[in-house]
Amino acid sequence: MKLIDIKTWTKDTRLTKEMRDAFYKSHPWEKCRGTILERDGYLCQNCLGDGEPVPADTVHHIIHLKDDPSRALDEDNLISVCFDCHNEFHPEKGFGKKKKKKISNKIKVFEVNQNPENAW
Ligand SMILES: [Zn+2]
Ligand SMILES: [Zn+2]
Repeated sequence: MKLIDIKTWTKDTRLTKEMRDAFYKSHPWEKCRGTILERDGYLCQNCLGDGEPVPADTVHHIIHLKDDPSRALDEDNLISVCFDCHNEFHPEKGFGKKKKKKISNKIKVFEVNQNPENAW
């Protein structure tokens, strides 16, 4: 069952929560996300701007997905960021202020998240 057809999305497409959820689970997004992380060297580009190399685990839409669905897979609109920076970009999610953590903590979290069964 196909919930979404990303290619038909325009700036005026209104995305429901179901459509957004389906998008973030979709194959084209997974592929695009991998491309962006690779392009950005798996580092948070926002922290890197501050001279801090922090592993990125999220790819963020510079123009938010809901504001312009036509740019859902536009590489120029995508940037690799860390969890904290991503929360900062989305104050609407209500995670509050960014707390800077030490890099060593970040790397630990990064490793723990990897499921060895999925390693291949
Ligand atoms: Zn960051
Ligand atoms: Zn985002």
